[in-house]
Amino acid sequence: MNIHQQYSLKKHNTFGVDALAAYFAEVTSIEELKELLTYAKEHLPSHLPLLFLGGGSNLLLTQDFEGLVIQLSLKGISEEKLNDDEVLVTAKAGENWHEFVQYTLRKNYGGLENLSLIPGNVGTSPMQNIGAYGVEIKDHFVSCKVLNLQTLTVDEYNNAQCRFGYRDSIFKQELKGKAVILEVTFKLSTRNHIVKTEYGAIQHELQKMGVTNASIQDISAAVVHIRESKLPDPKLIGNAGSFFKNPTISTEQFASVQALHPEIPHYPSGDLVKIPAGWLIEQCGWKGKQIGNVATHEMQALVIINKTGQATGKEIFEFSTKIIESVKDQFGIELEREVNII
Ligand SMILES: Cc1cc2nc3c(=O)[nH]c(=O)nc-3n(C[C@H](O)[C@H](O)[C@H](O)COP(=O)(O)OP(=O)(O)OC[C@H]3O[C@@H](n4cnc5c(N)ncnc54)[C@H](O)[C@@H]3O)c2cc1C
Repeated sequence: MNIHQQYSLKKHNTFGVDALAAYFAEVTSIEELKELLTYAKEHLPSHLPLLFLGGGSNLLLTQDFEGLVIQLSLKGISEEKLNDDEVLVTAKAGENWHEFVQYTLRKNYGGLENLSLIPGNVGTSPMQNIGAYGVEIKDHFVSCKVLNLQTLTVDEYNNAQCRFGYRDSIFKQELKGKAVILEVTFKLSTRNHIVKTEYGAIQHELQKMGVTNASIQDISAAVVHIRESKLPDPKLIGNAGSFFKNPTISTEQFASVQALHPEIPHYPSGDLVKIPAGWLIEQCGWKGKQIGNVATHEMQALVIINKTGQATGKEIFEFSTKIIESVKDQFGIELEREVNII
């Protein structure tokens, strides 16, 4: 296994930020990963921070990383028939998410079609309980295998133990920096699929496609089309998708914000009220706005872009701080970053 030094991470993050890793290595199996971690403990400077990488589509490198970056390239998909209606499908961490979803659709397994074209890898999908168009992975997640970084033992976490929330899980909280997800198992339908088309944009797209009785493959095609027309392709313009979470606030706070801004869009979220962060940012005049090398996307203010391709992570971070401050000033609402800041 090769350990590179002073290695550029530019190609390993979808923002296209050029930060250096003091050390960088790629692993293709659990054994290699354990070997690397043991080697690092014995031969590299002590207390070296670790950073695990999937597709690099949900992180912002604000500086060079003075530690060991480990690219997780574990591959493989396996299946186990549960009964006539359901199958368990397990994918290793380094499988590309969208290719995995396409694999399940070729087999006519239902459940993940609404999550088509989300960038990144399968191993990262539980981190923030990825979601889109009315579906989150928690709806089909059964369990994942995780390497405990202290003991180097493999533990299994079931759905409840992962404590999934909106763009959240135990892996972003208590287990942050303590565990690596090695593989993920989903329960999918093999027939009588329950399709979710209630999201307005999907219905509209299906209509345009002339589809009345949508199959899971039709839904995937519709989602892919919507996403391609709405979101900037990171291969062309650096970004990490939604930079902020949609804030949830108490009904009391919402009432006072609504009194000043009666047009504010909102929807219920348990006992709280969720507000689209993109709308708040747009109202503060940030849509399409550029400062230096950084901007928000012209069509979606929630997406921060590396406009010139030359932005540093620090610049992008500072730009995001300005957005947080203006939303706080205008609406009294605190935005939280969805992207992992490194
Ligand atoms: C254009 C675009 C659109 C997007 N749309 C959506 C969307 O609709 N819904 C959504 O939920 N997200 C969306 N995202 C965000 C992103 O795709 C997801 O969060 C994805 O799961 C990140 O996967 P990744 O492998 O690229 O993660 P990375 O960026 O490589 O890693 C993210 C974090 O997880 C850690 N990590 C990576 N792999 C592991 C592992 N195996 N074990 C433990 N920790 C790990 C990393 O250290 C880092 O802190 C979008 C991003 C882009 C660029």
